[in-house]
Amino acid sequence: MNKPVETPLATVPLWINGKPVLPAGRLGEVYDPAAGRVAKRVPYANAQTVDAAVKAAAAALPAWRDTPPLRRARAMQKFLQLLQAHQKELAQLVTEEHGKTLPDATGSVQRGIEVVEFACGIPHLLKGEYSENVGTTVDTHTVRQPVGVCAGITPFNFPVMVPMWMFPVAIACGNTFVLKPSEKVPSASVRMAELFKEAGLPDGVLNVVHGDKEAVDAILAHPGIAAVSFVGSTPIAKHIYETCAKNGKRVQALGGAKNHAVVLPDADLDFTADALIGAAYGSAGERCMAISAVVAVGAAADPLVALLEKKARAIKIGPGEREGIDMGPLVTAQHRDKVASYIDLGVKEGARLVVDGRGLKVSGAEDGFFLGTSLFDRVQPAMRIYQDEIFGPVLVVLRVNTLEEAIALVNRNPYANGTAIFTESGGAARRFENEIQVGMVGVNVPIPVPVAFYSFGGWKSSLFGDLHVHGVEGVKFYTRTKVITTRWPHQDTPAPGFHMPTLG
Ligand code: NAD
Repeated sequence: MNKPVETPLATVPLWINGKPVLPAGRLGEVYDPAAGRVAKRVPYANAQTVDAAVKAAAAALPAWRDTPPLRRARAMQKFLQLLQAHQKELAQLVTEEHGKTLPDATGSVQRGIEVVEFACGIPHLLKGEYSENVGTTVDTHTVRQPVGVCAGITPFNFPVMVPMWMFPVAIACGNTFVLKPSEKVPSASVRMAELFKEAGLPDGVLNVVHGDKEAVDAILAHPGIAAVSFVGSTPIAKHIYETCAKNGKRVQALGGAKNHAVVLPDADLDFTADALIGAAYGSAGERCMAISAVVAVGAAADPLVALLEKKARAIKIGPGEREGIDMGPLVTAQHRDKVASYIDLGVKEGARLVVDGRGLKVSGAEDGFFLGTSLFDRVQPAMRIYQDEIFGPVLVVLRVNTLEEAIALVNRNPYANGTAIFTESGGAARRFENEIQVGMVGVNVPIPVPVAFYSFGGWKSSLFGDLHVHGVEGVKFYTRTKVITTRWPHQDTPAPGFHMPTLG
């Protein structure tokens, strides 16, 4: 019998100066997590390759920043049309490399596309302020100018949406961009860069480099990069923030999360349990806005845990492209094993394991990186399964007696990305909104999803920096304000004095 012919693995290129590039050097592996095998390879950029991308972006900057915002917006509009036409293809790339289900991937691509829709309005968003007669015949106005070459470093869990939180707004503002997507999910970024070129974006305005710490460190050290946007885990976010600050770069670094849902006894518990199940286990819990801790108040606890148990057991797990699947695999075997080790730990710590996701085998996909849904009850704040971000399909329930206790518990947690309250009481919800120290809050909404024309970002250890991504805050991040004061001296006015004027 003939040996089966092995097809060589595809290599995902970098994208520099409007062309695909395959540099020599280290190669990484890209998995198909549902099949549990290596599907592609990806070259890792070193400092020299990063420098080539920054040089391309710097060369493209003068012409792009002087392109009228209206024309930049027209390129955005064409890009928007191409993204809409290729939404399914992009979602498929997300499912292939990340593992999430196709409908979930399609929704995440849609959220990214909405940022491009927002960026189409850039001429309006860049308008400055004007004051006549700040002094006698002296006028002042402001303009928002691009900051220069910007970089984006993104995580594995949203291969399309998170890069699109960054580069469309930066580029619409007149900057040029170097994107370093997660090396685990590199393909979608390159495809977006190709589509943007097709939309008429000049070469060098958007570049994509792949890689790990070596590429990131080269970005952080590069004197040609003016601003860095990062989304990923908290320890790396902190490192990015500190290094950029030391190197004089503008920086926004979004970190990890432990998002609490507080459930009051007056909540509609069936509705709440449905909402929590999707928020906890959707995308296999690999969402920065996943609900990973439920704080059940008083009499809500027993019936809520019973409902969560029933619904968690009913979740259909399998390859993300299969019809009718709720939850796909985890991104890598290593990550699946790390998440599973937290289930072992929770049992050791003394929490009650209500649903155990370990040892799941998916028929027809036995080698995939699957893990079933897990639910812990009676979790204590001192346990590591509560303190750490597990980033997998593990939901923990803590029990408290009052809303005050619930608010205090959420506010003591160092993470502060998102949180939600489930209640029928407007007064309780208002108090929660007011007192909770978290960046994004849902009221009977488990995941306050990113809306492009609002900003997105957490507080405390979930965000290092001052400005959130996209929305008006994104425009502020990617522009510098210049204040211009003007006088035309040929008018009949006194000559300027020596001291700072005391009268207007
Ligand atoms: P990660 O921190 O491991 O990686 C993020 C990026 O940093 C990747 O591009 C990676 O190549 C790079 N990186 C990894 N290690 C590095 C190092 N030592 N030095 C320099 N760069 C390094 O995160 P991840 O596992 O890809 O993504 C999951 C994390 O992202 C979770 O913590 C999740 O909460 C977080 N996240 C946060 C948000 C948010 O909006 N706050 C959104 C999505 C994901």
